[in-house]
Amino acid sequence: MVIVGAGEAGARAAITLREQGWDGPVTLIGAESRPPYERPPLSKAVLLAEDEPAPATVLDRDRAAALGIELILGTEVTAIDRAARSITLAGGRALPYSRLLLATGARPRRLAVPGHEQARYLRRFEDALALRPRLRPGARIAIIGGGFIGLELAAAAAARGCAVTVIEALPRILTRGVPAELAAAIADRHRAAGVALCTGIGVDRIEPDGAIVLADGGRIIADTVIAGIGAVPETALAEAAGLAIDNGIAVDATLATNDPDIFAAGDCAACAHPLYAGRRIRLEAWRNALDQGVLAARTMLGGGEAIAAVPWFWSDQHELTLQIAGLADEGPVTVARDLGDGARLLFHLAADGRLVAASGLGPLGRIAREIRLAEMLIARRAAPDPGALASPAVRLKSLLAA
Ligand code: FAD
Repeated sequence: MVIVGAGEAGARAAITLREQGWDGPVTLIGAESRPPYERPPLSKAVLLAEDEPAPATVLDRDRAAALGIELILGTEVTAIDRAARSITLAGGRALPYSRLLLATGARPRRLAVPGHEQARYLRRFEDALALRPRLRPGARIAIIGGGFIGLELAAAAAARGCAVTVIEALPRILTRGVPAELAAAIADRHRAAGVALCTGIGVDRIEPDGAIVLADGGRIIADTVIAGIGAVPETALAEAAGLAIDNGIAVDATLATNDPDIFAAGDCAACAHPLYAGRRIRLEAWRNALDQGVLAARTMLGGGEAIAAVPWFWSDQHELTLQIAGLADEGPVTVARDLGDGARLLFHLAADGRLVAASGLGPLGRIAREIRLAEMLIARRAAPDPGALASPAVRLKSLLAA
C-alpha cells in the first residue's frame, strides 16, 4: 500500500489501513519535510500565536513507527509506471505498489500580473512562519482575493493591528459556495474591524515598491502583498500517468480512478457524489480530506462503499464562525432561521423540497449543533416543511425524529 502525499488525506489513509487490520507494508511519501500536519490553523492560530507556534501534527514519526508506517519525507514522487505498478521517487528510486493512493492536495493559484513575484502565498507551515513577523502593528497588508484564506488572513492581520486592504475582482467576497446574505454579514464584520474591502476591481500590476495598481488606476500602497486567489489541484503525476482528470483526479464514489489499483482522495480528487446525483465535486476542505482518506483506505482493502459524507466546511473570521453543510448552489429555495445573538441559519432546498444544504453564521456555540443536525437531515435526503425550518421554536432534532 503506497500513498503519495503526506497531508491530511494521506496520513488518515495510512492510519486507517492499520486500524482496518492491514498488516502488510504501508509507505507514505511526502514532498514536505515535516510529518503530516493540519493546515487550517495556518491562517488562524499560527498567525495569532504570541509565542513561536508549532505545527499541529496529524501523524508524527513515533506514531508512524509504532504503526509500522514507513514515512518518506522531503521526497517528491516524480512518476507512476502503471504497467510495472511502481512509482519513481526524486533521485530515481523505484518503489513497487499493489495499491496506490494519490493524496497530493492542491497548490495556491498564482497571480499572473506584472510584478506577481512580490506576492506571498499561504499553504505550508513555512509560509505562515514567514508571514508572522510581517503582521506587526501598523504594517500595511494588502490581500488579493476575498475568499476564505484571504479573509481569514485579513481577520488575523487586523487583530494584530495591521492596516488591511482586501481586493476582490468579483462584485462581492466569498462568491464560491457562500450565500450572498452571509457574505454581506461577514463583509460588515470585516469593515467594523477596520478592514478596507475593495470589491469588483481587478489588479493591473504590482510595482517594485509594493504598490498595487488597480484596473481603474487606483493605487494601494502595501508593505506586504499576499495573494489568496484559490487553489489548483495537484494532478500532474496522475495526468502524466494517463489517469482521467476532470477538475481534479476523476474518481468514482468509492474514490477509485479509471485504474483499478489507483485511488485518489482529498483536495486533489474530484469525486462523483451520490448525494448530488453523481455530480462530480472537488472540495478543498479539511473534513473532506479526512473522510476521503479514511474511505480510500477502506476501498484499497476491497471495501467498496460509496462516499456518504455530506460536504462540510468551516471558516473562522474574527469571533464569527461560518459553517456550510452540503452544496448551497444545489438549492434554489432559501429559508432563513434567526438563532438570536446575531447568529442565523439558511436552509437551501431543491425544487422538489429536499434539503440539500445549510449555512450558518455566528458564534460557534450558537451554530455548530444546528448545522450538525441539518447535516443529518441532508444525509437522510429529508424534505422538511419550510415553515418548520424557519421557526426557531421548532427544534431541528424533532424534524430528524419525524
Ligand atoms: P494537502 O494537505 O495539501 O496535502 C498534500 C500533500 O501532498 C502536500 O504536503 C504536498 O506537498 C504533497 N505532495 C503533492 N504532490 C506530491 C508528490 N508528487 N510527491 C510527494 N508529495 C506530494 N479547510 C476547512 O474546512 N476549514 C478551514 O478553516 C480551512 N483552513 C485552511 C487554511 C489554510 C491556510 C489552508 C492552506 C487550507 C485550509 N483548509 C481549511 C483546507 C484544508 O486544510 C485542506 O482541504 C486539506 O489540508 C487537504 O488535505 P489533502 O491531504 O488533500 O492535501
